[in-house]
Amino acid sequence: MPSRARDEQQALGGRASTPAAGPNETTVTATDTAWWHRIPRAAKLGALGALIIGGSIATAIDGREAAFADTASGVVHSSDDSIATRSEGPASRATDRQELDAAERAAAKQAAAEQAAAERAAAERAAAERAAAERAAAEQAAAEQAAAERAAAERAAGEQAAAERAAAELAAVEAAANKVVMPLDAGTYSHTSSYGARAGGFHLGTDMGAPRDTPIRAAAAGTVVHAGAGIQGRSSNLISIKHNINGQTFYTWYVHMYDDGVYVTQGQQVAAGDVIGGVGSNGNSTGNHLHFEVHPADGRTIEPLGWLRQHGA
Ligand SMILES: [Zn+2]
Repeated sequence: MPSRARDEQQALGGRASTPAAGPNETTVTATDTAWWHRIPRAAKLGALGALIIGGSIATAIDGREAAFADTASGVVHSSDDSIATRSEGPASRATDRQELDAAERAAAKQAAAEQAAAERAAAERAAAERAAAERAAAEQAAAEQAAAERAAAERAAGEQAAAERAAAELAAVEAAANKVVMPLDAGTYSHTSSYGARAGGFHLGTDMGAPRDTPIRAAAAGTVVHAGAGIQGRSSNLISIKHNINGQTFYTWYVHMYDDGVYVTQGQQVAAGDVIGGVGSNGNSTGNHLHFEVHPADGRTIEPLGWLRQHGA
């Protein structure tokens, strides 16, 4: 036993060391006030500690001592020193330490669990954001792909349409170039003399009787190569147009117009059906009619009505 504790027990006059008396604090303070106030404060605490050794309130007092140890300084430590002989003190502190360690371990475990949960949540959030970004990127890529395909399809359709338009225009141009029409409109004329041998010689054209100034049309597109007085024994006036029909050269001749019945001039370009003159009875003629001839490239004449039919007029 430390000497201080021994001194305290001597100061108490051996009362506290008598286990039979019991750890009754009330009894001590009520009956021995005089000696109690004479001893130092630190000694009182030590004595109290000694009084309660083995008593029923030891645990409660231990709790107070622990509280003192946490909050107070030198005086309480003196008290601890005075009760160093007790077995409960160090054992209790060890238990506290164990409990504290356990609490710290539990807190650390909880903190680790919370940290892990937070990390899991963050990872899940990041994964969700990544997935959303990938989804968005995929949708964007799909949209761009679709737009590109649409644009390509539109481009292809546009090119096809342009090609078809060009082909149609070419066909139209070719059709127009190769088109052949009757030189007088249906219903405005009647056949009066055919191509070929007849009394008084060979008729080099076909005669189409019609009223004066009935419109005369170019039988096909081409270039006016003569417009004026009769040539090669034909009457005035005479219009000759050179055509290229499906790669073949033809000339069509129009005869017997009066001077005011010639509407075109040499070198003029005409289309099939253009009005080039008006019917007359000029020259070697007995009435208003169109004398119409067709010449292949070699300059001879051919039967005009057959040629017109053959070329779709
Ligand atoms: Zn004739």
